[in-house]
Amino acid sequence: MSQLNNRQVKLAARPVGLPKREDFSFETLPVPELEDGQVLVRVTHLSLDPAMRGWMNAGRSYIPPVEIGEVMRAGGAGVVVESRHPTFRDGDEVTGITGVQEYAVVKGERLQKVDTSLAPLASYLGGLGMPGMTAYFGLLDVCAMKEGDTVVVSGAAGAVGSVVGQIARIKGGKAVGIAGGADKCRYVVDELGFDACVDYKNEDVARRLRELCPDRIDVYFDNVGGEILDICLAQIAFHGRIGICGAISQYNNTTPIKGPSNYLSLLVNRARMEGFVVFDFAKRYGEAVQAMAQWVKDGRLKVREHVVEAGVDQFVETLNKLFAGENTGKLVMKIAD
Ligand code: NAP
Repeated sequence: MSQLNNRQVKLAARPVGLPKREDFSFETLPVPELEDGQVLVRVTHLSLDPAMRGWMNAGRSYIPPVEIGEVMRAGGAGVVVESRHPTFRDGDEVTGITGVQEYAVVKGERLQKVDTSLAPLASYLGGLGMPGMTAYFGLLDVCAMKEGDTVVVSGAAGAVGSVVGQIARIKGGKAVGIAGGADKCRYVVDELGFDACVDYKNEDVARRLRELCPDRIDVYFDNVGGEILDICLAQIAFHGRIGICGAISQYNNTTPIKGPSNYLSLLVNRARMEGFVVFDFAKRYGEAVQAMAQWVKDGRLKVREHVVEAGVDQFVETLNKLFAGENTGKLVMKIAD
């Protein structure tokens, strides 16, 4: 396989604010020979996630930072082209942490085979992959959502948020989304079946939420942080629950993160706010995939990918679509057929 060339994107500098092209280097290197236990994957799809912005920063987090000079970490999907691991054969379709590159050498234990007769490969990076798992466990376990709850979710047209609201409906709750722009809000209500959606770019969020949630908010699933978190804190119900999934409005800050000022609402309402990382639920992914694949089959859950066809060199420009709100559904880069 040494005749194959691999285009790679490496972190060259820690970005300040929005990542830019100069923060990365681009190299073409021959694919190395495999060692026992390794698998060579031809990467066809890359998962672009808001979390990647955090991985570029130095400092303590739930996962080590990407080092300068290292291939940028990314989830990916692709096809096995050579295997020295007993579980995998040429032609198997897999997902795993591939990095932003055309070919990935990965330990077999760290790859998952996927069944593309159930859903296209890209869906295993979205609704049936990590973002779907985040929605499922974040809503049902961390936020302990129950029938009759009023659930508010921000980033409602995105990979995680779109699934949160649909699961809330499936589980007998009321789903209110928050998203940027009239088109996204229409999609969330008309296509995904949410009860309502607030356009935070053009509407008074606090006022609209008071109208839509007259009995206050039982569960707020927070994908964005900042001012929207503060508004939802102020409207949390007695024994309400807030799941801190992410804070995309703060990821490119060059000044300290803006924390919530309405936190005493937790005290007044005996409510709780809890952060979580999806990887902590890894042992239970099978349970979620089974439930969600059935909902997809029954037409109760829609998973959508926003696929951008581009070479790995377009990584930064494509990633930044997340921060500009240009994606509807899971942002995926298709780098090969
Ligand atoms: P996504 O929602 O598909 O895409 C990001 C969306 O965020 C954009 O489309 C945009 O939608 C919105 N956004 C961007 N800048 C914003 C701002 N300043 N204020 C408000 N909204 C903004 O991304 P995702 O993959 O589903 O991730 C959603 C959140 O979940 C992120 O915070 C991510 O870090 C987090 N996450 C956490 C875990 C975990 O284990 N805790 C796992 C996966 C993801 P609009 O057009 O609507 O603004």
